[in-house]
Amino acid sequence: MGESLKFVHDVDSPRVIFGTGSLSSLQSEITLLGCKKIALICDESARATASEISLQLGSLVQQRINQVVMHVPDEFTFPIINESKSFDIDLVVAIGGGSSTGLGKIMALELNIPLLAIPTTYAGSEMTPIWGRTKENKKITGTDIKVLPRVVLYEPELTHSLPISISVNSGMNAIAHAVESLYSPELSPLVELAALRGIESMSQGLRELVGGKNISESREKLFLGSMLCGFTLGNAKMGLHHKICHTLGGMFNLPHAQMHSAVLPYAIKYNEVYAKESMNKVAEILHSHTASQGLWNLAREVGAETALKNLDFPVEEAGNVAEVISNATMVNPRPFEKENVVKLLKAAYNGTRPDDESW
Ligand code: NAD
Repeated sequence: MGESLKFVHDVDSPRVIFGTGSLSSLQSEITLLGCKKIALICDESARATASEISLQLGSLVQQRINQVVMHVPDEFTFPIINESKSFDIDLVVAIGGGSSTGLGKIMALELNIPLLAIPTTYAGSEMTPIWGRTKENKKITGTDIKVLPRVVLYEPELTHSLPISISVNSGMNAIAHAVESLYSPELSPLVELAALRGIESMSQGLRELVGGKNISESREKLFLGSMLCGFTLGNAKMGLHHKICHTLGGMFNLPHAQMHSAVLPYAIKYNEVYAKESMNKVAEILHSHTASQGLWNLAREVGAETALKNLDFPVEEAGNVAEVISNATMVNPRPFEKENVVKLLKAAYNGTRPDDESW
């Protein structure tokens, strides 16, 4: 007999405006929010769009921030926040990748004002109430509903300029959220549906993008996938895969999206026999025998990262990494087995297809 159904449905989501032309609803969305003094953040890639927005919004824009720094360091953020206070800012609009959204989140948190996000990558941060900042060179994260954007505008055209090499790793990073959400305890059926659709849309979009098919269609699929995968990150508990990446990022500052792409097939290989039903669904979506092989095949096919050795991970540190993870609290379908986590890390370092390992 199968296990009885058990879940908690208590989801958080921004209001989402999705599709070509959605940027044109910016002004009406601001009116709906009733805000009058805007801080407009953009990263380097979005400066031209931000200037157009600024022109369109006129005197509503009181503060422009034209540069962002990865991992939101306090020494960069707090002078900006002090300036926002002097302008009496009542809304943050952030356009750009996860670093831009990340700064917007800390401003929303510190100033206790709403955030409207216009993402241009597949990081998915705009769908979560998770914030991150760097204090005295240490990255800290937390969860607060105040940082969940009130509105997200997904304008697929803004992603056409995202280089394919960034797109594919960013896409695999998004898929990692959805795959791990599927074995989260007490998963809401709605989040499960979002995860499955997110993996499907993202994997199809990635294959079509590198295959040179209709760019508009593939970018639209990728953006839908990133929205759904981001939603799962904000509404489910992540497991061993995210714990490994968080630890590797903290210890060795490995590049975020590439690291996720390289670790994912092996973390799922470790877990999949303990989460057979959900991982079989992933395998089916990826047209593969197992989820881990399907993820590796996808990363390989689209040119995303498949080996930590390419990211200069010092593999001799695998034992120390496993030791750090063993002391962390984590929800994961398979119990933590230090020796096997070391084998997992070594396999992710080598990057060979996760076929025959016995761990
Ligand atoms: P990013 O925002 O740092 O952007 C990467 C690069 O791509 C930048 O140089 C940027 O200017 C450029 N870029 C962005 N959009 C572009 C476009 N459309 N065309 C051309 N270039 C473009 O990277 P990211 O991967 O989007 O975000 C990573 C950050 O987000 C990390 O700090 C990560 O921790 C955080 N994150 C947070 C959450 C959360 O829930 N809090 C979720 C996922 C990621």
